[in-house]
Amino acid sequence: MNKKYDVVIVGGGPAGLTAGIYVGRAGKTAALFEKEMIGGQITYTDEIDNFPAAPGMGGAEYAMKLQQQAADCGTEIFMDGVTEILPKEDGSYEVRTADESVECTAVILATGLQRRKMNVPGEEDFIGRGLSFCAVCDGAFFRNREVAVYGGGNTAVEDAIYLSGICRKVTIIHRRDRFRAEDRLVRELESKDNVVFAMEKTVSSVQGEKIIQSVTLRDGKTGEETELPVDGFFVAIGQVPNGEPFRGLVEMDDAGYYQIDENCGGKRDGVFVAGDGRSKSVRQLTTAVGDGAVAATHACRYVDRVNGNEYI
Ligand SMILES: Cc1cc2nc3c(=O)[nH]c(=O)nc-3n(C[C@H](O)[C@H](O)[C@H](O)COP(=O)(O)OP(=O)(O)OC[C@H]3O[C@@H](n4cnc5c(N)ncnc54)[C@H](O)[C@@H]3O)c2cc1C
Repeated sequence: MNKKYDVVIVGGGPAGLTAGIYVGRAGKTAALFEKEMIGGQITYTDEIDNFPAAPGMGGAEYAMKLQQQAADCGTEIFMDGVTEILPKEDGSYEVRTADESVECTAVILATGLQRRKMNVPGEEDFIGRGLSFCAVCDGAFFRNREVAVYGGGNTAVEDAIYLSGICRKVTIIHRRDRFRAEDRLVRELESKDNVVFAMEKTVSSVQGEKIIQSVTLRDGKTGEETELPVDGFFVAIGQVPNGEPFRGLVEMDDAGYYQIDENCGGKRDGVFVAGDGRSKSVRQLTTAVGDGAVAATHACRYVDRVNGNEYI
C-alpha cells in the first residue's frame, strides 16, 4: 500500500520548505518533493540583502538552513519531481512521481518559477555547454573568459555584476534602450570597467562546435545582424511558472499562475498554494515564506477537519 501523509508539499523552495516547518510543528506528517535543487531560485543568488534581520546571507546557505529546519521538524524530503496529482473518491489525493506514488489528505503546491527560454536556433544544443541560466552556479567555469548576459531586469543586471568580478569581459545584451532593473543595480553595473552594453539588440541564434562560440545579435532598429564571440552565455530574460502539470486542481490566470484566496486555498478542498507560482504583485523571499506559513496552517486545519478534530 502507498505511504500516506497528512500533507504532501510539491516544491522545495523557500515557500515549500517553510510549509514543511509549519506542518511538522503542527504535529502532522509531511512529505516534500523537490525535482531539481533544494532552495529553489534563491540558490541562484550569492547574497540576500533584504531578508529581515539576516542581511548578507548567501542564497545556498539560506537554503541549507531552511532544509535542515524543515527536516528537523519531521518533514520527509524526497528529490523527485511530481508528475501528477489525482483526486481520489474519498477526498484524499494520490501524488505521483515517475517512480512512486504516495497518498495524502492535503497538498501544497509550492512549485515556483523557472527561467524563460529564448526559443532560438541553437539554444537547446548548448544548454550546459556554455549556455547557462544561472550565473552564480556556473560563472566560475568562465574565470578570465569573455561572456554575455541576455536580459534587462534585476536578475540579468545582478548576473552581469556578479560575472564582472570573475570574467575578463561581460557584454550585457538588452532589447530595449534602458534597463527594467532597479537604478542602484544599473549604476553599479555601469561602474564596472569590464562591462560592455549591447542595447536594443535581441539574440537570434546561438552557435559553436562542441561548446558555444558565439551569439548572433539582431539590431532592434536596423535589423542588421552581427556575431558576438563568447566563451559563456547567460540567459536571464524572465521566468515562467511551473504549475502546468497541476492545471485542473487550481484556477490559473492566462500566464499560468495559480489563483487562490487569502488563505492560500483554491477551488478544491485540500489543495493549497504558496510562493512565486501564484498570482501576486511581489515575488520575494518574505512573501514566499509568508505564503508557506499561511498555506501550511490552513492545510493543517483542513486535515484536522477531515479527521474530525476541529482546530482550536
Ligand atoms: C537570481 C535571483 C536572485 C534573487 N534574490 C532575491 C533576494 O535577494 N531577496 C529576495 O527576497 N528574493 C530574491 N529572489 C526571489 C526569491 O528567490 C523567490 O521569491 C523565492 O525563491 C520564491 O520561492 P518559492 O518557493 O515560491 O519558489 P522557487 O524558489 O521557484 O521554488 C520552487 C521549487 O519547486 C520545485 N518544483 C517545481 N515543480 C515541481 C514538481 N513538479 N515537483 C517537484 N518540485 C517542483 C522547483 O524545482 C523549485 O525548487 C531572487 C531570485 C532570483 C532568481
